[in-house]
Amino acid sequence: MYNIVCYDDLAAAGVNTTLIRRAKSCCLVKICRGMYSVVRECTNPSHSAIAAFGTDREWMRYHEQGLHRERSQRRRYLDHLARLRVLHYPHYRDDDVVWGVSAARLHKLRLFVNGQWELPMGGQQNCP
Ligand SMILES: [Zn+2]
Repeated sequence: MYNIVCYDDLAAAGVNTTLIRRAKSCCLVKICRGMYSVVRECTNPSHSAIAAFGTDREWMRYHEQGLHRERSQRRRYLDHLARLRVLHYPHYRDDDVVWGVSAARLHKLRLFVNGQWELPMGGQQNCP
Protein backbone atom coordinates (compact mmCIF):
# COMPACT_ATOMS: atom_id res chain seq x y z
CA MET A 1 0.00 0.00 0.00
CA TYR A 2 1.22 3.50 -0.95
CA ASN A 3 4.11 1.92 -2.87
CA ILE A 4 6.48 2.24 0.06
CA VAL A 5 9.95 1.02 -0.78
CA CYS A 6 13.14 1.12 1.26
CA TYR A 7 16.57 2.05 -0.02
CA ASP A 8 17.87 -1.52 0.34
CA ASP A 9 15.15 -2.85 -1.97
CA LEU A 10 15.84 -0.10 -4.49
CA ALA A 11 19.56 -0.83 -4.33
CA ALA A 12 18.91 -4.54 -4.80
CA ALA A 13 16.98 -3.63 -7.95
CA GLY A 14 19.99 -1.70 -9.24
CA VAL A 15 18.85 1.80 -8.30
CA ASN A 16 21.68 3.97 -6.99
CA THR A 17 21.55 7.19 -4.99
CA THR A 18 22.02 9.38 -8.07
CA LEU A 19 19.02 7.79 -9.74
CA ILE A 20 16.97 8.14 -6.55
CA ARG A 21 17.86 11.85 -6.38
CA ARG A 22 16.76 12.34 -9.98
CA ALA A 23 13.59 10.30 -9.52
CA LYS A 24 12.52 12.50 -6.59
CA SER A 25 11.67 15.19 -9.12
CA CYS A 26 9.71 12.68 -11.17
CA CYS A 27 8.07 9.58 -9.71
CA LEU A 28 9.47 9.14 -6.19
CA VAL A 29 8.74 10.91 -2.90
CA LYS A 30 11.01 10.61 0.11
CA ILE A 31 9.04 9.54 3.17
CA CYS A 32 11.97 9.58 5.58
CA ARG A 33 15.62 8.62 5.48
CA GLY A 34 15.89 5.44 3.44
CA MET A 35 12.13 5.17 2.75
CA TYR A 36 10.39 6.27 -0.42
CA SER A 37 7.03 6.07 -2.15
CA VAL A 38 6.44 5.60 -5.86
CA VAL A 39 3.84 8.24 -6.67
CA ARG A 40 3.27 8.03 -10.42
CA GLU A 41 3.63 5.77 -13.38
CA CYS A 42 6.81 6.77 -15.12
CA THR A 43 7.79 6.29 -18.71
CA ASN A 44 11.42 7.29 -18.21
CA PRO A 45 13.33 4.10 -19.10
CA SER A 46 16.03 4.85 -16.52
CA HIS A 47 13.30 4.74 -13.82
CA SER A 48 11.92 1.35 -14.84
CA ALA A 49 13.47 -0.38 -11.81
CA ILE A 50 11.66 2.13 -9.57
CA ALA A 51 8.38 1.77 -11.47
CA ALA A 52 8.38 -1.94 -10.63
CA PHE A 53 7.55 -0.99 -7.00
CA GLY A 54 4.49 1.01 -8.06
CA THR A 55 1.61 -1.39 -7.53
CA ASP A 56 -0.87 0.88 -5.72
CA ARG A 57 -2.63 2.44 -8.72
CA GLU A 58 -5.03 4.54 -6.65
CA TRP A 59 -2.13 6.22 -4.84
CA MET A 60 -0.38 6.95 -8.14
CA ARG A 61 -3.59 8.22 -9.75
CA TYR A 62 -4.05 10.59 -6.79
CA HIS A 63 -0.67 12.18 -7.59
CA GLU A 64 -1.02 12.02 -11.36
CA GLN A 65 -4.26 14.00 -11.09
CA GLY A 66 -2.45 16.59 -8.97
CA LEU A 67 -4.87 16.21 -6.04
CA HIS A 68 -1.96 16.39 -3.59
CA ARG A 69 -1.25 19.93 -4.82
CA GLU A 70 -4.79 21.23 -4.40
CA ARG A 71 -5.00 23.78 -1.64
CA SER A 72 -8.01 22.06 -0.09
CA GLN A 73 -6.14 18.75 0.04
CA ARG A 74 -2.69 20.00 1.02
CA ARG A 75 -3.02 19.82 4.80
CA ARG A 76 -4.51 16.33 4.73
CA TYR A 77 -1.84 15.22 2.27
CA LEU A 78 0.99 16.50 4.47
CA ASP A 79 -0.65 14.85 7.50
CA HIS A 80 -0.84 11.63 5.55
CA LEU A 81 2.86 11.81 4.62
CA ALA A 82 3.66 12.45 8.29
CA ARG A 83 1.64 9.35 9.22
CA LEU A 84 3.48 7.28 6.61
CA ARG A 85 6.74 8.57 8.11
CA VAL A 86 5.71 7.27 11.54
CA LEU A 87 4.42 3.97 10.16
CA HIS A 88 7.49 3.22 8.07
CA TYR A 89 10.28 4.68 10.18
CA PRO A 90 12.98 2.04 9.64
CA HIS A 91 14.86 2.35 12.92
CA TYR A 92 12.29 1.17 15.47
CA ARG A 93 13.69 -1.36 17.91
CA ASP A 94 11.95 -3.94 20.05
CA ASP A 95 9.94 -2.33 22.85
CA ASP A 96 10.18 1.17 21.39
CA VAL A 97 7.21 3.32 22.39
CA VAL A 98 5.56 5.78 20.02
CA TRP A 99 4.09 8.75 21.87
CA GLY A 100 3.03 12.36 21.47
CA VAL A 101 2.30 13.70 18.00
CA SER A 102 3.69 10.56 16.37
CA ALA A 103 1.27 8.36 18.34
CA ALA A 104 -1.61 10.69 17.43
CA ARG A 105 -0.70 10.39 13.75
CA LEU A 106 -0.36 6.62 14.04
CA HIS A 107 -3.84 6.30 15.57
CA LYS A 108 -5.39 9.09 13.50
CA LEU A 109 -6.23 11.20 16.53
CA ARG A 110 -6.98 14.87 16.18
CA LEU A 111 -4.40 17.36 17.42
CA PHE A 112 -5.03 20.59 19.29
CA VAL A 113 -3.35 23.35 17.22
CA ASN A 114 -3.60 27.13 17.51
CA GLY A 115 -6.44 27.01 20.00
CA GLN A 116 -8.65 24.57 18.13
CA TRP A 117 -8.93 20.94 17.19
CA GLU A 118 -7.57 20.02 13.80
CA LEU A 119 -9.86 18.32 11.35
CA PRO A 120 -9.65 14.55 11.55
CA MET A 121 -6.91 13.01 9.48
CA GLY A 122 -7.68 10.76 6.53
CA GLY A 123 -9.98 7.85 7.17
CA GLN A 124 -9.43 4.28 6.11
CA GLN A 125 -9.52 5.08 2.41
CA ASN A 126 -6.37 4.60 0.44
CA CYS A 127 -5.61 8.26 -0.24
CA PRO A 128 -5.71 11.22 2.12
ZN1 LIG B 1 10.33 8.70 -13.04
